[in-house]
Amino acid sequence: MEISEKTTGKRFQRLIGNYKGTVEGPLVICIGGIHGNESAGAFALQRVVTRLKETTPLFQGRLLAVAGNVRALNAGVRYFRRDLNRMWLPARVQTLSKNTVAHETAEDAEQQELLAIIREALAQGPTKVIFLDLHTTSSDGAPFALISDTLTNRRLAQALGTPLILGLEESIDGTILNYINEMGHAAIGFEAGQHDAPQSIENHVAAVWITLVEAGCLVPEAVPDLAAMRATLRRASRGLPSVFEVRYRHAITAADAFVMQPGFANFARVEKQQPVAEDCRGAVRANESGFLFMPLYQALGEDGFFLVREIKPFWLRVSSWLRRASADELLHWLPGVHYLGGDKNSLIINTKIARWFVIEICHLLGFRKHAQTGEQLIISRRKQAPE
Ligand SMILES: [Zn+2]
Repeated sequence: MEISEKTTGKRFQRLIGNYKGTVEGPLVICIGGIHGNESAGAFALQRVVTRLKETTPLFQGRLLAVAGNVRALNAGVRYFRRDLNRMWLPARVQTLSKNTVAHETAEDAEQQELLAIIREALAQGPTKVIFLDLHTTSSDGAPFALISDTLTNRRLAQALGTPLILGLEESIDGTILNYINEMGHAAIGFEAGQHDAPQSIENHVAAVWITLVEAGCLVPEAVPDLAAMRATLRRASRGLPSVFEVRYRHAITAADAFVMQPGFANFARVEKQQPVAEDCRGAVRANESGFLFMPLYQALGEDGFFLVREIKPFWLRVSSWLRRASADELLHWLPGVHYLGGDKNSLIINTKIARWFVIEICHLLGFRKHAQTGEQLIISRRKQAPE
């Protein structure tokens, strides 16, 4: 029996669907509800899997659809003890793989189960892997895609037709998106809208079908309503810039007593010094002009809000060209820039010497900020998935 979206006492299981085509092809892994209060993604995956089983189109490869934090989803809470989407640091996953971590919290068990199912799928040796992580936000606003800025990720995310956010992985550690990305696979985060808005489920459904087509699992003709789905996503983000980069994260703890001012939608324009929230110290103001991103309107969370700014599509084209021309190999000739040890994927920059637009140039060339101590900035190359 299909689970009704209106049923109270929702019941999710880890495996939402494992749909295999008759022809070899890519592995698409979709996760819905790694945050348990974001059930829209899990519901959307149920719909997609049900329709695939009913219509049985010619399918290349495999769709693995899983629920993220199953225990939290079924309880309708974001998480019990720990945010399951902040636990994917390489050192921790290493210990998990040795089975030495006791199941101390519900999220420890969730992570171990998720890791097992992902590992098992990857061990089959698929030629190409595409990972899609489905989320919703507490604020109202347009859907958007989040990526680590590699050319493959860009192509897949831009196919969704929603704004694209670059650089969130420099502000947030331990996400499953970054973990999969660092393994060298394509990985897209998709935020469909507000948690309980019915439209968020529709937006997720559209994102999954579009990704299955872009991945090459399905031909466009196999999804008769594909054009309508693309139009839905484009319409939802009409009037917004197509690419943003994250400039600032307002980190919070429970002790801050942080409260957003009411009424900010995602991507609301703000001016420098504009009050946007309050905490125990008084007004919290935007430290630069730009767009407010993911303002927090729920009790649980460590990110009060972000500030993002527009990147002109021209710069994306310049950056694609520079990367294909391997311009990054010239970086270490700049004054104040050296390879870290013998590793050509990491550079150490003396920001006292290399002062101008250092991080902007590094972003263009496909590097991300890794760590900063005083004047020393360490950057590392983003793992590239095959194009
Ligand atoms: Zn989320």
